[in-house]
Amino acid sequence: MGMVADESVILTTDVIATVASFCWERSMVSADHCLTQLADQCIALLTQHGKERVIAPVLDAALGCRVERVAGYDTDLLGTFTRDIPRAGTQIEAARRKARIGMELAGLSLGLASEGSFGPDPFAGMFPWNVEFLIFIDDLREIEVVGVAEGKAASAYHLAEDWTAVEVFARKVGFPGHYLVLRPEGEGDPRIRKGITAWSELEAAYAWAVMQSTNGRVFLEVDHRAHANPTRMDNIRLAAEDLVRKLLSQCSACGAPGFWIIERVAGLPCGDCGAPTREIRAEIHGCIKCGHRVTRERTDRQYADPGRCAYCNP
Ligand SMILES: [Zn+2]
Ligand SMILES: [Zn+2]
Repeated sequence: MGMVADESVILTTDVIATVASFCWERSMVSADHCLTQLADQCIALLTQHGKERVIAPVLDAALGCRVERVAGYDTDLLGTFTRDIPRAGTQIEAARRKARIGMELAGLSLGLASEGSFGPDPFAGMFPWNVEFLIFIDDLREIEVVGVAEGKAASAYHLAEDWTAVEVFARKVGFPGHYLVLRPEGEGDPRIRKGITAWSELEAAYAWAVMQSTNGRVFLEVDHRAHANPTRMDNIRLAAEDLVRKLLSQCSACGAPGFWIIERVAGLPCGDCGAPTREIRAEIHGCIKCGHRVTRERTDRQYADPGRCAYCNP
């Protein structure tokens, strides 16, 4: 089975940096205005998986706003990690759609929503990886800013042939802290039990699944929903912190928030021969509202490892 449960495209870090930088398409007012106006403002957050527990404290403390959970809409209708309902569009589009539904239901002009994806890590492609986007939409000021976090994921699956294999898998993936999903026979089986949170429930679900299974096997996977997966919930909190950093970063020319990295420039000189390498030399911060750009040279390192040089280590 493919590792990508919630996203049709594997995101590379470059893509993430570009997508993440923000999309403030039609900003109308100054940043100071924007941020002071977020104080005491309600922001709609559509979630049915407890994401407000990590998002609200971070934003409320930093911005003085009030993040309010919006209920009354089954977000699973927009797509599930268990492939029973496929998600339409990209990860950002899915987050935007959710935020818009929440804003509409709550009757607010400010909205938030997060959307996650799982796949192999972008470096070696060997570890399960999770990318979380948290979108902030402000219709009064006509801005949109996206917080991003990524990291190792608690994501795994196994086709178990007996109860012992189930136990071994469950222990390995941190059950019951991370919930499990079970199906008879295989990954595509429409018969499904989600949100298994205790050993007694797992035993009962296994007994049910093995009865249904003509090949005697039971397909297990880690539940990716936020409330069921503490590792993912932690990444959502980090995405909220990233969003706060971006909202607090203002353009020195026009004061707009969301002044952030829009491009990374390669060419850090080789420590041996001085030739430019593919290592990052500088980051360009930009403001889409006024077009102001600032190039910030890397300060942590002046030279690249010769091992990364095309001449010294072809
Ligand atoms: Zn600006
Ligand atoms: Zn070199």
